[in-house]
Amino acid sequence: MAVPPAPRRAARRPPAMPRADVRRFLEALARANPDPRSELTYADPYTLLVAVVLSAQTTDAAVNRATQTLFAEAATPDAMVRLGEAGLARHIRTLGLWQGKARNLVELSRRLLDQHAGAVPADREALEALPGVGRKTANVVLNVAFGQPTMAVDTHIFRLGNRTGIAPGRTPREVEEGLLRRVPPDLLRQAHHWLILHGRYVCKARLPECWRCVAAAWCRFPAKTPAPPVKPPRRS
Ligand code: SF4
Repeated sequence: MAVPPAPRRAARRPPAMPRADVRRFLEALARANPDPRSELTYADPYTLLVAVVLSAQTTDAAVNRATQTLFAEAATPDAMVRLGEAGLARHIRTLGLWQGKARNLVELSRRLLDQHAGAVPADREALEALPGVGRKTANVVLNVAFGQPTMAVDTHIFRLGNRTGIAPGRTPREVEEGLLRRVPPDLLRQAHHWLILHGRYVCKARLPECWRCVAAAWCRFPAKTPAPPVKPPRRS
């Protein structure tokens, strides 16, 4: 007789991290990476905007491979409109959702020319009015290109916000608002990079590598991953 599956335990959500520890947690990440940068390749606000639009459901490495040839041919709104959707497709066909992205990027570039004299606006409302630009993309552009203390909540930051207790929330917007309230203002602008990079390389989705985490002392995640066993040396 088949054994019924054990009932799934509800995911354990840690308590919110005390505010003093939010600073200590981020300062530990800052000591390990004092000058964090976006891993997307870009030269100016326009090429950053294009790269971020292309990065939806795609890795930064794949976007960088595509933009290496794309930006050689079209690195301005004017050149992008002249390239057109078919020309753009030659460069981005390897990326997920490329047809919609090609359509959005040509139209977005046309609107930048028509409504913003070809420049990327440093304004949330104007950015979010562009095709293919949502709140997360606008937050990345405002933060990285214009130095504004915004918080773009992607899958990594959403996970970290909940897992560590730094800013628990049921939706990306709740986590964003929690981080904006709880991260000290002097750390806010770079916190976006520290958290994304930490989630990408250490606090991974399936198995966080807590044993080598520089911020473990302040993290509220109750089930921290122990170090893997050391393999005995092979006998010759
Ligand atoms: S201790 Fe583990 S769960 Fe906490 S932030 Fe570090 S890697 Fe993530």
